[in-house]
Amino acid sequence: MFIGHFAVGLAAKRATPGVSLAVLFTAAQFADTLWPVFLAAGLEQVRIEPGNTAFTPLDFVSYPYSHSLVLLLVWGLALAIVCRAFVRDNWIAPVIAGLVVSHWFLDFVTHRPDMPLYPGGPKLGLGLWNSVPATVAVEVPMFLAGIWVYTRSTRARDGVGRWGFISLMVMLLLIYVANIVSPPPPSIRALVITMAAGIPLFTAWSWWADRHRDPVKGETW
Ligand SMILES: [Zn+2]
Repeated sequence: MFIGHFAVGLAAKRATPGVSLAVLFTAAQFADTLWPVFLAAGLEQVRIEPGNTAFTPLDFVSYPYSHSLVLLLVWGLALAIVCRAFVRDNWIAPVIAGLVVSHWFLDFVTHRPDMPLYPGGPKLGLGLWNSVPATVAVEVPMFLAGIWVYTRSTRARDGVGRWGFISLMVMLLLIYVANIVSPPPPSIRALVITMAAGIPLFTAWSWWADRHRDPVKGETW
């Protein structure tokens, strides 16, 4: 899943309005943040295999440290403890841990049975990626629902808050479409470099837009 992870990050703003969207995105995408690091270090493996599923040309050979359920529980706990030390918000720890672990369940829905329960353990996956229309039909409404919750939990204070946020959402959607229609990455190295460049960019972008928006108080949903 791609924009589905951002959807849960956006929605989490409702529970923790004082926490930057950049932190929520980082938690929801923590598995995919670790992944290029572990790939570059040779600890995890992926192959380029066009047609692996209809949606992705990637064969996720092995990623027990970034993408197994047990390790994501551990990462979630660790990130929650770190965030709890810096942010005064009673909800921060459960929200951050929940976001990190949510990555496994969302990827479990879309991936082939390649999502490990624990390193060396059984691999699971429902394979939504076998159908591009089904994937889009699930993920795009999720993403729009996330935007809906976020924009009802915050209000733009100025043009950066409005257009910085809108442009970020449009960019994520464009990348999503580009992923579907463009050819496979030329190499694993190119994939790692693209992710290593993209993750800090989108983290900074979401931090910048989010800090120009104020939490909306007292609204119920
Ligand atoms: Zn992932």
